[in-house]
Amino acid sequence: MRFATVEYQGKTFVASVDKAGKKVMPLSVGDINAVFRGDRCEAKGPAIALASVKLKAPMLPLRNIMCVGKNYHEHAKEFSASGFDSSSTGAADAIPTAPIIFTKVPQSVIGPDEPIRYPTGVSDQLDYEAELAVIIGQGGRGIAKSDALGHVWGYTIINDVTARDLQARHKQWFLGKSMDSFAPMGPWCVTADEVDLATAGIRCWVNGELRQDAKIADLIFDIPTLIATISAGITLMPGDIIATGTPAGVGIGFKPPKFLQKGDVVAMEVDGIGRLTNPVQ
Ligand code: MG
Repeated sequence: MRFATVEYQGKTFVASVDKAGKKVMPLSVGDINAVFRGDRCEAKGPAIALASVKLKAPMLPLRNIMCVGKNYHEHAKEFSASGFDSSSTGAADAIPTAPIIFTKVPQSVIGPDEPIRYPTGVSDQLDYEAELAVIIGQGGRGIAKSDALGHVWGYTIINDVTARDLQARHKQWFLGKSMDSFAPMGPWCVTADEVDLATAGIRCWVNGELRQDAKIADLIFDIPTLIATISAGITLMPGDIIATGTPAGVGIGFKPPKFLQKGDVVAMEVDGIGRLTNPVQ
């Protein structure tokens, strides 16, 4: 099933989205975190045409989005070779030996079609990163790899927008990753059964040009490993988000780099979820 946060006739509410992507059904919950917690949730009807509602960011995360750096082999190599990777000294340590985890503040989240704000005067090396984002359902601490997928409520798409100059200059990635509007999310959240992790593809286009095209199965550290690693010492809670990393084809993977500019349009898809599109303004 798909769950969206929508605006219609001046009201914002949670709705399910039908299989055909044509209609939404208002639900009886106050915010989408109730869905992740497994609270009772009923259709309130009547159904509304999807075309007549505005899709909002599906959620305001309850705390920082947890993100994974360099989690696809080809991307780890392109990043290391780009000169922007302050965590690596070259090809020898391009592939991480343990997951690299950083966070983005919840307030960096924007919804489908909302503009990524070009941070004029702060950065001029803006980049895109298409990522599958895991949504935790049942929380826990010390979750075993073998149990981890049972703690996954479902998935959404996140564009892990990055200011490469700040990421390199400040060593820690937080400043370059967490600026206002740097976490486009959506178009909605889907339950775990909608995404086949063994076969699903992830793709990204800038102005219609295909830049990223990979399989989720190519992750260096898979989702059970990420959940086990994070939850070893941090209690995961319903609604927590883990952005799993981006594949090769980001702007700094090109020579010369293809940084985002004002007026660009970034679109990304994950099979089983849908398409997230945002302009840069
Ligand atoms: Mg990323």
